[in-house]
Amino acid sequence: MEQSYLDDGESELFNNIDMEDLIGPEPSAAVENLALVLSPSVIDDPDVIIISPSDIFSNGSRTTTSPRKLAQKKTPLETLRPRYFFVSDFVAYTWCSQKAYFSILNPGFEEMIQEIKSVSDPTKKIQPVMKIGTAIHVTRELAVHAPPKPVKTCGPEDLFAIRLLNTFTLLHALILGKPVEREIPVFGMPLDLGILIFGKIDEINLDHTTGMITLSETKTRNSEREPRPPQQIGHRLQVMLYKRLLEDIIQGKMNWRLILNILHLKSEKKFSEAVQKEIICSGLSADHLDLLFRQVTAMTAALSGEIVLNVEYVYQGTKKTFLTRTVEYDEEWLREQMTDFVHVWTMRKPMLGAPVHEAWKCHDCSFGDICEWKQARIPRRNTDGTWTR
Ligand code: SF4
Repeated sequence: MEQSYLDDGESELFNNIDMEDLIGPEPSAAVENLALVLSPSVIDDPDVIIISPSDIFSNGSRTTTSPRKLAQKKTPLETLRPRYFFVSDFVAYTWCSQKAYFSILNPGFEEMIQEIKSVSDPTKKIQPVMKIGTAIHVTRELAVHAPPKPVKTCGPEDLFAIRLLNTFTLLHALILGKPVEREIPVFGMPLDLGILIFGKIDEINLDHTTGMITLSETKTRNSEREPRPPQQIGHRLQVMLYKRLLEDIIQGKMNWRLILNILHLKSEKKFSEAVQKEIICSGLSADHLDLLFRQVTAMTAALSGEIVLNVEYVYQGTKKTFLTRTVEYDEEWLREQMTDFVHVWTMRKPMLGAPVHEAWKCHDCSFGDICEWKQARIPRRNTDGTWTR
């Protein structure tokens, strides 16, 4: 049976493992890790066991930045994201650059605050929104392909091969006739901004009659209200960025050599036997990254149809879509947003919090208590009814 392989996810696994262990400056060839193997066929077993990120990698540790490292480096980019970003970093930035920075500095903090709220006030039945959203995503993913099984990898080249193989397998399943695939890992250096980005496309539909590709992002919400316009900015950016990354892969426009350099990966290094076996099972024949990349690009080039972008809003109560918004691709706007992001992260522009007219963003912000921007900018009502800024 044709196989696909998932090593990790953008916000789930990549954010929960220590990337220094995976793609470190001097990776040890002896380091063994587990990557996840999926089948693109639909599962028929309802008792699916979901493997948590911490189960997948033996150390399960989060990335931490020591004060010494912080002192040595200069910009947030160098300090916190020395080699790559996630698509979700850009989305968070469109909401509030200060909050995006806090989130990267404190991975898992927002989830923890939600947990505390749900435990501390059970009468209000506050449910951890992110957990429900994740569960909906996992259910939708497992409706189109089987749950992952682990494969042993040895060294960062093996792990990256699995990531690339996952992208290939899911795209290839579409080319072979499948109408829909979900959770497709993508990566690349779009728009010549010099930034490596990893992401995961929620859903790709392929109309085999017209060749048209529909790329969708699913946003789960705890009400059936349309998100406010500022929130939709991030959603629009997300699908546009996914389109750019996907097209760069299938059109062979990725600067592959540069990506390998950034990740300190050796293009000619031979994969382990276990990984080579999985590559052969997927229908390819490559024993090192350079060859694997060339084969993946050649095989996925068949996905050349027009790409339509959708954002789908799903109500968590019913788990049904209540609104779909089609997004017009605007490369100039995308470039502007991303350039702005890069300028903030390289300290060419100041990192700002939410403006006063969007102070409502701060009400539910998990970082409100530590945000000096909020304390300084948001007016407070005094007991006599006057306001202090
Ligand atoms: S409190 Fe407001 S300004 Fe501060 S990080 Fe949160 S949203 Fe941004």
